[in-house]
Amino acid sequence: MAITDDQFRRFKDELDTIMCKFSISFPFWGVLAERCKFSLTENLIPTAGMTGDGHCMFNVNFVNELREKHREKYSKKLLFLVAHEICHFVFEHMDRREDRDPRRFNVAADYAINLLLHYQFDDKDYFIEGGCLNEKYKDMCAEQIYECLLNEDKENFERYKDKIIVDVICDGDGDGDGDGDGDYCDCDTDGDNGDGGDDADHDGNDDENGND
Ligand SMILES: [Zn+2]
Repeated sequence: MAITDDQFRRFKDELDTIMCKFSISFPFWGVLAERCKFSLTENLIPTAGMTGDGHCMFNVNFVNELREKHREKYSKKLLFLVAHEICHFVFEHMDRREDRDPRRFNVAADYAINLLLHYQFDDKDYFIEGGCLNEKYKDMCAEQIYECLLNEDKENFERYKDKIIVDVICDGDGDGDGDGDGDYCDCDTDGDNGDGGDDADHDGNDDENGND
């Protein structure tokens, strides 16, 4: 089932609201967000993900579940999620992974990011439960946390790794680690609503080459 027009428009509106919130309350994040491209996907990734060139993707079903579960707190959760994905891009986690185990490094990067955001957004309503957060990794970078997960925390990691909600760090330009044949829709979040048209691209097809 393809992403519907309603699902797309609703998510695009939500992203636009977050960009406004960034520019008013968190301008640092607003500047970083402007360097990224956002899209909604059905098949490419299971949760959310970021590519090395700043293409941030959200799975439509994951977003729907987040909205349904958190209701009035959903906008804060989504803002946190967008900031989280931006961090993967800004901190260049795709390049820094090198030949490490992808999932373990992704978890390590998530611990590093979420602690940073935990202090940035000083309100626990922003944090998405099930994500990686542990004060013991304070002031450690992803590589250092990875070594912990590989050594002293290995048993714990092996036991809980499948229960951790984790996003996807992709090497490429939007194809992720999958086969790249899923459909996705680009959400223009430049906040320019004065041109009289909705220039977001949504035809429900795999059309990544025709955007931007
Ligand atoms: Zn992440």
